Amino acid sequence: MDNLKGKTALVTGGSRGIGRAICVALAEAGANIVTCYAGNAAAVEETVAQCKQQGVQADAVQADVKSEADVQKLFDFVTETYGSLDILVNNAGVTRDNLMMKMSEEEFDTVLDTNLKGTFYTMKLASKLMLKKRAGRIINISSVVGVHGNAGQANYAASKAGIIGLTKSAAKELGKRGITVNAVAPGFIETDMTDALPEAVKKQSEQTIPMARFGSAKEVADAVCFLASDRASYVTGNVLMVDGGMGM
Ligand code: NDP
Repeated sequence: MDNLKGKTALVTGGSRGIGRAICVALAEAGANIVTCYAGNAAAVEETVAQCKQQGVQADAVQADVKSEADVQKLFDFVTETYGSLDILVNNAGVTRDNLMMKMSEEEFDTVLDTNLKGTFYTMKLASKLMLKKRAGRIINISSVVGVHGNAGQANYAASKAGIIGLTKSAAKELGKRGITVNAVAPGFIETDMTDALPEAVKKQSEQTIPMARFGSAKEVADAVCFLASDRASYVTGNVLMVDGGMGM
């Protein structure tokens, strides 16, 4: 197990799915956890409880990543409670699927503001804290859709492709200061987000995956833990596909 004992990790969107699995996996590796959520207070308490079972400190803050003021409030909590930040995982994300010609501006903006702008807000504040320490790990959750596109997801694909550009630019800006910045691009993972897909779409999707199954949130969390660890000390600006070979 990677030793993250004494490190502080901030994971956005930790109330469910991949975010919860990342919180618990980083806690298992010894990191103290701060997470945020949009509105699901009961679910995030379960995440916090699961992290505390690993013997670490864990807290949840309600913060809408679309709001710069909320993200500032979240970082104020992190610095007041934990002093600084070692690991940032940008996981909070939403979909508003529609064919492009039917897509409303609201559907486009909600997805871009949450997935991409939210990631920018947290990276900006995290990099200031990490620059002072000349160390840090930033891991952004993109998607196979951000690399290859997907019909009906122009907004989501644009946000996830944007995250890759943001990741690579930040890796170039921050590398000299000992901060690594990487993206993880999951394929189809079993969570509430994919549960909403019609059965026929799920079956059809499985046929496009060389490993012929959806992945688990834990499998994404394991990749994040690697990138957060000392074992990934010379890995930056990468997009690690966790997709059962789907994006080959
Ligand atoms: P879920 O829909 O299961 O969970 C989304 C999480 O994000 C929840 O914790 C939710 O909080 C939080 N969230 C949503 N909007 C906001 C906001 N404005 N501010 C703060 N938190 C917010 O998603 P998944 O676990 O499936 O996905 C996690 C990440 O992985 C996303 O970025 C997604 O795009 C990406 N991904 C997922 C794939 C999949 O197949 N599932 C594939 C590729 C990428 P709350 O519970 O309070 O609503």
